Amino acid sequence: MVGLFIRNARFLITVDEKRRIIKDGAVAIEGNKIASVGKTEDLLKEYRDSEQVIDASKMIVVPGFVNCHHHSPYSFLRSLGDNLDLPTFIVHRTRPMASILTKEEGHIAATAVLLESIKNGTTMIADTGEGQVDGVPDAIEKTGIRAVVGKSVLDIPKIGHNASNKLEDRTEKAIGDAKEFYEKHDGRGNGRLRVWFSPSHERSVSDRLVKELSDMALQNGVGWETHVAASNTSVLEHKENFHGKGAIERFAELGALGPHFMAVHANWISDEELELICKHDVRVCHNPTSGVAGGFGTFSRGKFVEMMQRGVTVALGSDNVARSNHMDMLRVAQATAVHRDVREDPTLFPPETLLEMLTINGAKTLLREDETGSIEEGKKADIILFRINLIEWQPLYNPVSNLIQCANGSSVDTSIIDGKVVMENRTVKTVNESEVVEKIEEVSEGILGRAGLERYAKGRWEIE
Ligand SMILES: [Zn+2]
Repeated sequence: MVGLFIRNARFLITVDEKRRIIKDGAVAIEGNKIASVGKTEDLLKEYRDSEQVIDASKMIVVPGFVNCHHHSPYSFLRSLGDNLDLPTFIVHRTRPMASILTKEEGHIAATAVLLESIKNGTTMIADTGEGQVDGVPDAIEKTGIRAVVGKSVLDIPKIGHNASNKLEDRTEKAIGDAKEFYEKHDGRGNGRLRVWFSPSHERSVSDRLVKELSDMALQNGVGWETHVAASNTSVLEHKENFHGKGAIERFAELGALGPHFMAVHANWISDEELELICKHDVRVCHNPTSGVAGGFGTFSRGKFVEMMQRGVTVALGSDNVARSNHMDMLRVAQATAVHRDVREDPTLFPPETLLEMLTINGAKTLLREDETGSIEEGKKADIILFRINLIEWQPLYNPVSNLIQCANGSSVDTSIIDGKVVMENRTVKTVNESEVVEKIEEVSEGILGRAGLERYAKGRWEIE
């Protein structure tokens, strides 16, 4: 007898090594792990008397989605990032917000964004850890999601920052802060939370800071990440600060590249940098909706098609809710298809590839492919169930095509993370959604006021 048995799934999409899709599929879950996967008729005898049985005859069963990039504190900036270039967005939106949030408000922001993620089928998420990050680990523990978080640090302040002390002292403090956060929070939530090292942006971090954080990541069996070449201005600023070099080129010289490095964005990399990414098996987090929102040149300049052709592990990220404007990874995957149009090639990014990017590639990028990213015996049970008796799912011939291209996150019915049912029939069980919504309504205006951002909280049309 096992704890949880999912039976009669219309389709079970495993994303395992053989990419099996099982009709009338079943999954048995014992504790937080997957005990068995197969046809219902083969598993029924052994598992029919499980403590909890889910009839999935009107569902398809899929590995939970992985979102490799977001920022919790900017939950309160929703709709305030419209039509802004990157420097304006950073200096006049995110920094004022990051500087005023209390730990409690950071916790509310993280809870909100994790709740929205769970409702849209995300079971693992990476927060780059900018701003008020101290309230984030508690939110991860409480909501039940699997996560990677690093405390974002920098030692080369530029626009919008004060630099009163010496570089050496700033570097020392940044390393100390990152280490302290790692020691305090890594492994929390039954190991669901892993802490990474997160130098903020490529242009704001010294050679020593990058090298030491990369080494610390390796020593501790985790990864490091940074924003790289998101827009042309990021590249130009990096070249100005670092003798005309590209960031990937500089990191290679520092010996900081490897599978333990996640390059976030990587929209404006050179051909030489693409070679380095391939050579060192660097993992890349592509943020298509963020690029569309910010006009970064993600599609026109990005080498994601070449990365895929060269076998680079490319995963997907939503970025913050003032950029993507939502936490629905299916919408993020759908935006990736714009590459077909830009390259005038309809064969690019088929739905199967996009599903891999949302699941197993995300797990590989966050160095957790042994644990999650597919539905396989021995892996942690991170599984989502989509309701298919909905009009957007019909007719249903090809489940992967319908999943990736027709559905959106609102048809996720049930979410299981680390073997626990965290959402059933669209009701999240770990936190009270109505209370979270009320809390945000209660505090959001005050927060905008304190950040001095009220004037941006309106659109182009007057509200009477
Ligand atoms: Zn970001």
